[in-house]
Amino acid sequence: MKNFTIITLGCAKNTVDSRHLIDALKNEGFKYVEEFKKADFVLINTCCFIEDAKEESIEEILTAVKFKNERKLIVFGCLSKRYGDELIREIPEIDFSCGVDEKEKIIEYMKLYRVQELSYGQNEPYTAEPPTYRYIKIAEGCSRRCTFCIIPSVRGPFRSISPSEILKEAEKFVSSGIKELILVAQDITQYGKDLKGYNLKDLLKDLCSISGDFWIRLLYLYPSQIDEALIEVIADEEKIVKYLDIPMQHSEDRILRLMGRTGTKKEYLKKIKILRESLPGVILRSTFIVGFPSETEEDFQRLIDFIEEVQFDRLGVFKYSREAGTKAYNLKMQIPETVKNRRYDEIMSKQALISLEKNRTLVGKSYPCLIDYIDGDMAIGRLYCHAPEIDGVVILEDTLNRKPGERVEVLISEAYEYDLKGVILNK
Ligand code: SF4
Repeated sequence: MKNFTIITLGCAKNTVDSRHLIDALKNEGFKYVEEFKKADFVLINTCCFIEDAKEESIEEILTAVKFKNERKLIVFGCLSKRYGDELIREIPEIDFSCGVDEKEKIIEYMKLYRVQELSYGQNEPYTAEPPTYRYIKIAEGCSRRCTFCIIPSVRGPFRSISPSEILKEAEKFVSSGIKELILVAQDITQYGKDLKGYNLKDLLKDLCSISGDFWIRLLYLYPSQIDEALIEVIADEEKIVKYLDIPMQHSEDRILRLMGRTGTKKEYLKKIKILRESLPGVILRSTFIVGFPSETEEDFQRLIDFIEEVQFDRLGVFKYSREAGTKAYNLKMQIPETVKNRRYDEIMSKQALISLEKNRTLVGKSYPCLIDYIDGDMAIGRLYCHAPEIDGVVILEDTLNRKPGERVEVLISEAYEYDLKGVILNK
């Protein structure tokens, strides 16, 4: 037994964990294969962020169980960390389970079943990430205490990954032709708080000093922690795309306090104004939760007003998920699912209009566009305003002889709610 495949669910942090595990297993002589049917070991990297994510992970495990036969089924990540023994009790076909950050345990387990004939250098490429971008996890865990969130108890307290490790990984990616590095953590603004005299600004400057043609994208900044010095670095460094993902969760101060978040609506509005003034053309993305316990119709309407006033370029919305083990689980006035669904639909249709309007303003303008995929004579690309996997894309036609990873100048010709159509200018 030596072939393994890996199914990754959940967020970009899991994508990074899976990639690190794959590299470690290859170093041990295991062979990565894409197809389930060729694998001796099937590994599932799970998520438990909200109810939907848990269901998706369990469905994936049950599908693997159905076709398991002689294979070994290994489940790891957030769901198995949270439900450990319970998961194995409920699904006894799971052969081995462990939590987050425990790749050594997985390797030890797999070594027990490996046959001796080792095979190096015949691995299939890991295609969960296309050849143009890579996520780089700059920290693990979270020390904040948002009352709706289970992450700190699953992933542990905040720990910065050492600058040398991050820079080494970034250099490796850039020299292999990767064109976009996406920095992720539960909250990247906390980076360095456990390091002596080195913070996110230092890391960004060091990353930007790597020579090569690449973008850096920043995901998940805690709103109240974005200070002037950080904005200055983002403004000064050309490699950092002017795109910020700042989860705000709600606009109303009473709800924010119940959520255990810092900041107020007034402060959020001020910060947004500063960001737009200091970073011309900046794309602002945020996420909000609807149906948090005790959210009234008035609170919700004010949230809609806030979203209309700010006109976020990108917006993610979650329906509040009541997670056992969180503080908010015990809050009174839980909101019925039907109300959450209605609020979710309302906010999403508002944002669809905003998004369409914003996309229409791009028509007739040209931008550098990174080609992610080629499909026949069509290509899928992204502008600086598109984070992969979460935002829209640019559909390009007539792309004969183009390759993924190329950056081309594109004239935007059509706009839809989320996607754009464009024509390559530099033929
Ligand atoms: S900042 Fe809040 S929502 Fe984000 S991971 Fe930490 S506790 Fe969860």
